[in-house]
Amino acid sequence: LRVEDKLFQNRYLVDPGRPHIKVRPHERPSANLRALTRICPAKCYELNDKGQVEIAADGCMECGTCRVLCEASGEVVWNYPRGGFGVLFKFG
Ligand code: SF4
Repeated sequence: LRVEDKLFQNRYLVDPGRPHIKVRPHERPSANLRALTRICPAKCYELNDKGQVEIAADGCMECGTCRVLCEASGEVVWNYPRGGFGVLFKFG
């Protein structure tokens, strides 16, 4: 089974209008912020047409990678989803 196939088995309950991760507005992304477009396992981060990093937190697995890399610098604001929302792992 490919990783993408396994990820597809997860379920995600969206908390409308209350994303649990936010990217601080920026002109140009730092190297760490830019790296998130490649290393987020759920591919939540993308570059927009202005070269800025955006996040769509739906599908986030709460792995904490972006938190470790970018929370201390303030580039990413990271909270766990409210109870009942967020990722639902099928096997664990
Ligand atoms: Fe991606 Fe993990 Fe950050 Fe969620 S916590 S957005 S899965 S890097």
